[in-house]
Amino acid sequence: MADEMKAAASAKPGGDTIFGKIIRKEIPSETVYEDDQCIVINDINPTAPVHVLVIPKKPITQLAEAADDDEQLLGHLLIVAKKVAKKLELGGGFRVVINAGPDGCQSVYHLHLHVIGGRQLSWPPG
Ligand code: 5GP
Repeated sequence: MADEMKAAASAKPGGDTIFGKIIRKEIPSETVYEDDQCIVINDINPTAPVHVLVIPKKPITQLAEAADDDEQLLGHLLIVAKKVAKKLELGGGFRVVINAGPDGCQSVYHLHLHVIGGRQLSWPPG
């Protein structure tokens, strides 16, 4: 089993996560962008030359748990993903991924968008 699948299989929804500690600056990360609603960091285990995570400061555990009231925040995350992709010179294209729940291979239960690019990506994902 691939490492990311092992991490997803052992992940437990709920409680504080590594991303909460990063948002609170309790542990370091390579920050690409930050505003009052979200932070964007380099993924510690990149799958492509560019692999960043757009993380809302609000600790929504997963997309399935987002509320109707989160509509503005979810839209903001996509706009930030677009701006960061431009900043990181992904003019040739990129992919935005949200893994959700055990079958979606989510390993950290604090909602986040993966922005991946810098090489030709294939489809479909596994
Ligand atoms: P998920 O599988 O939940 O969609 O993605 C979680 C991502 O978080 C993975 O790509 C993993 O490499 C990344 N990650 C896990 N722990 C850390 C960490 O401590 N720092 C950073 N920057 N990324 C992390």
